[in-house]
Amino acid sequence: MKKELVERLISDDLPSIAEIEAKYPKRNLPEGAVVSRTGPSPTGFMHIGTIYQTMISKKLVEQTNGKFFLRIEDTDTKREVSGAREIIVDYLIKYGLLNKEIDEGPFLDDSDKDNYGPYTQSKRANIYKAYIKYMLENDLAYPCFCTTEQLNEVREGQKKEDLRTGYYGNFARCRRLSEEDIIAKLDAGLDYVIRFKSNGKHSNKILIEDSVKGKRNIAENDFDIPILKGDGLPSYHFAHLIDDHLMGTNLVVRGDEWISSLPLHLQLFETMGWEAPKYAHISPIEKMDDGKRRKLSKRKDPEASVVYYDEVGYPVQAVLEYLFNIANSDFEQWRKQNPLADLKDFELKVNKLNKSGALFDFDKLNHVSQNYISRLTKDEVYNELEKWAINRDTHLHKKMVQNKDYIKEIINIERENTNKPRKDITMWSQAWDTMSYFFDDEFSLTKEEFMEKAGNPDPAVAKAIVIDFIADYDKNMALDKSEWFNSFKELAEKHGYCTNGKEYKKNPDAYKGSMANFAKIFRVLLTGEPQSPDLYYMMHVMGKERVFKRISI
Ligand code: GLU
Repeated sequence: MKKELVERLISDDLPSIAEIEAKYPKRNLPEGAVVSRTGPSPTGFMHIGTIYQTMISKKLVEQTNGKFFLRIEDTDTKREVSGAREIIVDYLIKYGLLNKEIDEGPFLDDSDKDNYGPYTQSKRANIYKAYIKYMLENDLAYPCFCTTEQLNEVREGQKKEDLRTGYYGNFARCRRLSEEDIIAKLDAGLDYVIRFKSNGKHSNKILIEDSVKGKRNIAENDFDIPILKGDGLPSYHFAHLIDDHLMGTNLVVRGDEWISSLPLHLQLFETMGWEAPKYAHISPIEKMDDGKRRKLSKRKDPEASVVYYDEVGYPVQAVLEYLFNIANSDFEQWRKQNPLADLKDFELKVNKLNKSGALFDFDKLNHVSQNYISRLTKDEVYNELEKWAINRDTHLHKKMVQNKDYIKEIINIERENTNKPRKDITMWSQAWDTMSYFFDDEFSLTKEEFMEKAGNPDPAVAKAIVIDFIADYDKNMALDKSEWFNSFKELAEKHGYCTNGKEYKKNPDAYKGSMANFAKIFRVLLTGEPQSPDLYYMMHVMGKERVFKRISI
């Protein structure tokens, strides 16, 4: 197309392609270093899938001493929500997936540091337009004046005739406009977009190679897709082409909803004479619904949103650990062999990534989270819980601040002093349930509740047990745990309970109950529930006065 006409179509004052290319030199990185990125759109809703995909990109970069960057893909201005950019940056930082000191991202956009930005697509409009001008000049693109109504009409006709819908072949009517036609339409003030002029044939099959899904034969692209929209911004396809070329991306990790666009993307790279990055299309996180698999849905599943994990209080490390579990078939084995190792030490292999949908499983997440929390020190639990509670549970937060030492001791029951720590906290929103009964103002137990939960012991026997227990309390509590337990067993035997499990099974009627029945009396009296943490440690933390008050029946 003649230069003057191209100038008329895109009249902005633009840098030359040589100037642009000079600003983005080849990255100086070691052989095999991965350059990858995450490209979320600021729609206000951050999907857990974005964390999942970013975690994979970032891991592959870290493993190869490569480069990772965040690119805000905001070319669809209609979907933009204010504050969404901050949410993206904050959550990526929170999940340890973005480090402003090492990684690149929109926080560098207005700095004068040499970098590969801007990292916000809407700030790159002139760059895209410069390349589009080049494409127009070289007959690789053309203006399209079709209105939405005309496009709909074509689409309906295609549907009726059972043809592929879209702008291709004979349906691509603006492709055939002469320069005179174009000038006439411009003179008439018609709106236009710029379309890519595809040289592909649908009947040709091309072999694509995806790092996750493997090799596939797919039809060549023949759609003349819009590359510049009426609002002066590019389409996703074109923006990603230019950005990944200039920014030196050599591995694109993205959701597999894009795999059908791969023939188009490869064609775009080829048209420009550029080397395409490798692509790793990852399967979405799915869930079982009515016996069928489906993607996690923004509308139906609260767990689709990153915010959900924060709200209920799953620790970030637990969520990441869980996501590695579902991403990579090697992970579970590695974790078994390295139970305490840092996630950083796990080596992710692209060919071990889940090829079909990874299934979301709350039981597994809870299990991972319980394990993670059980390995934290009392101070770590206290600090994470306080951070969680500060904006979400003012009652708990107040209690924590007022009773810091007591709460730390409660948290520490069967924690730092054991190699089999308690696993009763799954998420921070449930933590208070495991400790509120240590506070008298949160505790209540009626006689009836006691009888029912303790399995209806004989009240006179229960009373006699408690009297004996109190009489030797100080002496026994001064013993170590195993000696204390021996004396506790003696007390059980004295009152007709059986301390030998096998024997009790054989002859249950010869006893008042088992050792578990005996301990239950104390568990219920002290906590209000038949299950409780270790009695000995618990009583030490509660203190004699509180213990006596609760057990005196
Ligand atoms: N903005 C695209 C999305 O949100 C990113 C796809 C890509 O990473 O290339 O799906």
